[in-house]
Amino acid sequence: MHTLAILVAAGRGERMGAARPKAFLGLCGQPLLLRAALAFEASGTVDGVAAVVPVEEIDAAREMLGPVGKLVEVVAGGPRRQDSVLEGLKVAPDGFDGIVLVHDAARPLVEPTLIEAVAAAARAEGAAVPVIPLVDTVKRVRAGRVCETLDRSELGAAQTPQGFRYSLLARAYEAALRDHATVTDEAAAVERLGVRVVAVLGSERNRKITTAGDLAWAEGLLGRRE
Ligand code: C5P
Repeated sequence: MHTLAILVAAGRGERMGAARPKAFLGLCGQPLLLRAALAFEASGTVDGVAAVVPVEEIDAAREMLGPVGKLVEVVAGGPRRQDSVLEGLKVAPDGFDGIVLVHDAARPLVEPTLIEAVAAAARAEGAAVPVIPLVDTVKRVRAGRVCETLDRSELGAAQTPQGFRYSLLARAYEAALRDHATVTDEAAAVERLGVRVVAVLGSERNRKITTAGDLAWAEGLLGRRE
């Protein structure tokens, strides 16, 4: 195996206000996790797909992911996203030092071109993250007052898949664990080591489904296409 995709789907999705974890909700009849997994399945650059889900959803996830021929394993996640990623990293075979692509199952509309661009940049440079430019002006706000306007031209929003040489990401997560550091994405863990992460252009379609409004947006997009 050269490239392993780890889909993190162990969040509770509380902002969605649904009874089931977000990744198990349907988007035009297909759960977000399955849609995301099929996108990686279809990518010629990915050899294996692992999923990280809430412990009580393991059996349901295994059944749901039946159509994913590249599925390697379904494992239980942890309380924070970074704990779930760490569980996913353990799926890699002994001695693996290929590329690992960590992806939010909550981004089911990821395009093959983005998967391939991130994997290629990670192969070439060791670490890559998709970023989209910000369209709004960004303020630093403290206690209800604006204290600074940031230079938007230098800011971007990070997406997934984030791609890394496996040994680098494993080292970054071991260090974060040792230092009790909270990291909200993989790139942040790698940045802590002083390693440069390459930014590739992300995509609007690859939006994270967080609220019922995001789900409606994605249904609208797919409805126009399917
Ligand atoms: O909560 P948020 O939307 O930022 O989560 C991003 C992705 O990380 C989602 O796909 C979610 O299922 C996953 N996650 C996880 N384990 C957690 C929290 C989030 O796998 N403990």
